[in-house]
Amino acid sequence: MRDLYDIIGVGKNASDSEIKKAYRKIAMKYHPDKNPGDTEAEQKFKEAAEAYSVLSDNQKRRQYDQFGHAGVGLGDQPGGGGFQGHMSMEDIFSSFGDIFGGDFDPFGGIFGGGGRRRRVKKARDLKVSLKLDYKDIVKGTDKTIKIKRHETCDTCSGSGAQSGTMPTSCRQCGGSGQIRQMSQSFFGQSVTVRECPVCNGSGEMIEKPCRSCAGNGIQRKTVEIKVKVPAGITEGNYMTLNRQGNKGPKGYESGDLIIFFEEKAHPVFTRNGEDVITEARIQFYQAALGLTLEVPTLEGKAKLKIPAGIQSGQILRMRGKGFPKVRGSSRGDQLVRVQVQTPKSLSRQQKKLLEELSSLNGQSEPVFKRVELD
Ligand SMILES: [Zn+2]
Ligand SMILES: [Zn+2]
Repeated sequence: MRDLYDIIGVGKNASDSEIKKAYRKIAMKYHPDKNPGDTEAEQKFKEAAEAYSVLSDNQKRRQYDQFGHAGVGLGDQPGGGGFQGHMSMEDIFSSFGDIFGGDFDPFGGIFGGGGRRRRVKKARDLKVSLKLDYKDIVKGTDKTIKIKRHETCDTCSGSGAQSGTMPTSCRQCGGSGQIRQMSQSFFGQSVTVRECPVCNGSGEMIEKPCRSCAGNGIQRKTVEIKVKVPAGITEGNYMTLNRQGNKGPKGYESGDLIIFFEEKAHPVFTRNGEDVITEARIQFYQAALGLTLEVPTLEGKAKLKIPAGIQSGQILRMRGKGFPKVRGSSRGDQLVRVQVQTPKSLSRQQKKLLEELSSLNGQSEPVFKRVELD
């Protein structure tokens, strides 16, 4: 999938207004009205709109910078499915108001079959947390999570009407979902189009509401969602899956599903950014003689050479054995803090040997040092 900044034709540090300007240019160039029947132009038009929808939203842009396409629910995320069908023409045009300023629609309703497009209402987003263990974070993983969300009602198939009955056209607005009001203003007569307050813009009335959903057409259900978790996630990161949240009543667009990631504590490892820290406890004679240890790492065991004469508290670094970055190919390190253990009890033979060692060492005087408080 192409880089979103490339699609718009701006650099990564482009300001909001630069992005807006660049997008406006592309939208004009590839607008389907100017390129009738040109599917490639239409594709470019949609692609640019998709890219703009991310880069014009500070939160989404930050997520994209951090995680790439997966972070904003694009790419190979289930339900994302790339650019095609991701944003409808309706979505694209509803965003035009923002870039061309106010309510001005430069393309005058050619796509909507006349009339102004209604701003799409959106159902509530859904927030869930997902716990990951270090193994998942190192490699990235596919998770299936169970969530409770609003889905289309089974009983009435979303119509909201009791079985055997059908919704009827709203009497207030005649089924258009809109009310037009004429008013006299300074500039002459003007028409204001409003959402119909009786049917909330759906254009339909339900005489006998469905008993399962009370006429909303939606029902709470448990569903399974597949989540592709990229490698390198950190606690507090989150991911937005577009349109995977609650379904709304008729006329509403589905909300988003926002997944907050949490880290499970590990018995041996502590994470510090991209690095992972662990402690190795060795005997004092091992510290004096040196040895090679088999050390657990995030991915199986690895050998670590402990040099002879290592001091307690010294840290050894195993390069590239830490966590990967979400973007980029670099990896952190594993840090092994060596703690030297002094035996608490000795056998008679051990005691004898140590006394021998002590006498070989002569009379060694302790050294005192100033302690720095931090
Ligand atoms: Zn129902
Ligand atoms: Zn109505």
